[in-house]
Amino acid sequence: MSTTAEKTFVVIVGGGVAGLALGNFLLRSGIGCIILEKDSCEYVEHRQRAGALDGRGVRMLREWGLEEVFGDFSAGPTDSAGFPLLIDGEPRLWDAADDDSEGIFCPQQILVRNLIKVFLRDGGDLRFEAADISLEDLGDRPTVRHLDATGSAKVIDCELIAGCDGDRGISRPSIPADILTRYAHEHGYAWLAVLADVPADPLAVMAVHSRGFAAQITRGPNASRFYLQCPLTDTLDQWPDERIWSELGARFGRPVAATGPITDRQLVPLRSVVYSPMSYGRLYLLGDAAHIVSPMSAKGMSLALHDAEVFARAVIHQVEKDDSSLLDSYSETCLRHIWNAQTSAVWITETMHNSGDASYEGEFRKQLARVELERMIESPTAANRLFE
Ligand SMILES: Cc1cc2nc3c(=O)[nH]c(=O)nc-3n(C[C@H](O)[C@H](O)[C@H](O)COP(=O)(O)OP(=O)(O)OC[C@H]3O[C@@H](n4cnc5c(N)ncnc54)[C@H](O)[C@@H]3O)c2cc1C
Repeated sequence: MSTTAEKTFVVIVGGGVAGLALGNFLLRSGIGCIILEKDSCEYVEHRQRAGALDGRGVRMLREWGLEEVFGDFSAGPTDSAGFPLLIDGEPRLWDAADDDSEGIFCPQQILVRNLIKVFLRDGGDLRFEAADISLEDLGDRPTVRHLDATGSAKVIDCELIAGCDGDRGISRPSIPADILTRYAHEHGYAWLAVLADVPADPLAVMAVHSRGFAAQITRGPNASRFYLQCPLTDTLDQWPDERIWSELGARFGRPVAATGPITDRQLVPLRSVVYSPMSYGRLYLLGDAAHIVSPMSAKGMSLALHDAEVFARAVIHQVEKDDSSLLDSYSETCLRHIWNAQTSAVWITETMHNSGDASYEGEFRKQLARVELERMIESPTAANRLFE
């Protein structure tokens, strides 16, 4: 079979939030790039995941002139009034505002769909259903081989590779194992994550209860993601629809305002992971390919965007000034930011979960977590209004 040879400056492996944001940043800066995505456009555009974007992510996309990607459904700010938090059924208000008053609820699939639309409209090269991707000669003159959607073999010569292919992609495993260190923390429990055709009003509500943590968070005008803390050993068979709705009602201290068809359910073990360094030769890891943050912090999408921006600025600096210093410090710059985010993510995860079901960490840790919880929340008066 003949192989078509091509050339570009950056090959981006993976068309999720990190890869698509990076592609748009580079395209707007006049730097050649090709995005290779293993799944179909249809699949990628409908993959439900995150729902919250922090103020930093919102400002960043605005600064790049990409405000249109927030799209048809985005609501916020996520925290101007605070989140209603039900503690043993009693409404309280969690004013999570740090510097984040511009944060919004924006379902990830809408952000992804719009990033794809803008990238293609502006002339970007995005290849869905790219198969058998392999990365070669990472140290000097990288090449990326793949089969395109029609099965034709392609080899792309490039200067840099951006590994944006998530936790299960091929980029990170392309780095020799003795170079990479994995730092991981298992929180010891899972979330049953349920997607249902139910509008969320208010847009987010969380519950701390001796039965465990629970939450309902908007995923668009007619959909919500529900979360229930559960043991790591639970299976989906143990969670039929009726149990889900009644357990949510028990933890919220009131029945769920509206129920509807459940369209997806999965068990997500809560873990925090960082891989270091985030670069090897001319391969750079971005987003979930380099780190997983506990979903309790709702920062995964924002961290992916942060990496994309740091990397894009470094590439622009290389091209415009012929200076690799920002690329050289890419891993260090991102790791500093990520460890900071991990600190808050682990803290909020432990505070919210240890404050509830004491069977995981014991009564002593529960009392400590309750003190932390009280420090971070406000009086019930404002919270009650959110349920009126
Ligand atoms: C159930 C769930 C709920 C979440 N909730 C939140 C939340 O509320 N807030 C938040 O901020 N974050 C949340 N996250 C995390 C967030 O979704 C991720 O952090 C974010 O998607 C990371 O973006 P990414 O581009 O790095 O990776 P991904 O979104 O995983 O994108 C990687 C892309 O690479 C592609 N790919 C994989 N392998 C290959 C390959 N070999 N070749 C080519 N392409 C490949 C994939 O198909 C995918 O399109 C959640 C995650 C899950 C699973």
